[in-house]
Amino acid sequence: MADIPVDRRIEILDSLGSTKCEGCGKAKQSMKSHCRACYFRLPKDLQRKLYERFGSGYEEAFEESLAYLKTKKGDLS
Ligand SMILES: [Zn+2]
Repeated sequence: MADIPVDRRIEILDSLGSTKCEGCGKAKQSMKSHCRACYFRLPKDLQRKLYERFGSGYEEAFEESLAYLKTKKGDLS
């Protein structure tokens, strides 16, 4: 996984505490990485990775999940 710059890591931490889902722009609970709809669109292994601690895998998992959600945009069934 590519190195994530410090600025981006801070954004990711902010995003975790915010109530706006970065995946779709809708509301989410704070301390959840995504809203339920986005979370359940992720593959199981990626969902699991989002439980990594911040600083030991979470940021990478978060970026990976966003990339996944972006490629799946418009693919809602
Ligand atoms: Zn969402």
